[in-house]
Amino acid sequence: MNEATHLLATDLDGTLVGDRKGLDRLLGFYESQEYDVSLIYITGRHHQSAMSLIEQENLPIPEVLITDVGTEIHLGPALEKDSAWEHRMLKHWQPEAIDKLAASFKGLKKQDLPVSNRCSFYAEDSDTVLAFEQRLASAGIPHKLIFSGGRDLDILPAESGKGAALQYILDKFNAHEAKMLVAGDSGNDKEMLTLGFPSVIVGNAQPELLQSPESPMIFRASKVCAGGIQEAWNYFHPE
Ligand SMILES: [Mg+2]
Repeated sequence: MNEATHLLATDLDGTLVGDRKGLDRLLGFYESQEYDVSLIYITGRHHQSAMSLIEQENLPIPEVLITDVGTEIHLGPALEKDSAWEHRMLKHWQPEAIDKLAASFKGLKKQDLPVSNRCSFYAEDSDTVLAFEQRLASAGIPHKLIFSGGRDLDILPAESGKGAALQYILDKFNAHEAKMLVAGDSGNDKEMLTLGFPSVIVGNAQPELLQSPESPMIFRASKVCAGGIQEAWNYFHPE
C-alpha cells in the first residue's frame, strides 16, 4: 500500500463479485496495464465469510480487507488485524444496550453472526428503522446506523463505517495521491462513495443508492458489477 499509484477500493457482493465474465475482463485489463493496482476490499461480510468468498471466487488477495461494514480491518501480507483501529472503535461501543433496545421492536430480528463489533438486524420496514433510530438517539447511545437493501440494518460504533475505515487506511498509508476508484452497489456503500474520490455506482445497484444525488465524482455505470468498475475506471483514469 505504501507508494500505491493506483488503487481500487471496492465492495464485494454485487460489485466486484456477481458477473464472472466482467470480473475476468476487469482483472485481465488490470493485468495488461503498466501500473499495479492496489486492492482494498470493503464488505459487509464478517471476516471469515469474506475470506471464504475470496477463495471461492478465486479473487486476488487484497492489500487491505475491511469487513463487517467497516468495523474490522485486516492488512499486510498475512492480513493481520489492525488493533489500533479496533481499539479506537470500541471505546464508546455499547452493544448490550443496543440489543436491549432492539428487543422491544417486533419488526427487528437479530442476525445470527459471530461478531460483537456491530449489531445487525433484519428490519421489517423503514418505519421500524426510523423509530429505532429515534430510540437510540434519545437514549444517547453513540452509534452509526446503516440500512441496506431494504432489509439489513447495521448499528455500528460511531467511528466506524465503510467510509470512515477507507479514510483511515488512506491516511495511514498516505495514499491520497493515488489514482483511485471507489465502487459499490448498496446503501452501506454510500458513505465511501461520497468521500469525494472518483467513485462508481455499478449498473445493478440497489434503488437506495440510485436515488442518491448526482455528483461529478460519482459515475453511474451502465454495466453490472465488475464491468461497471471497468467502465468507470476508463472514465476517470484513461491512459
Ligand atoms: Mg454489495
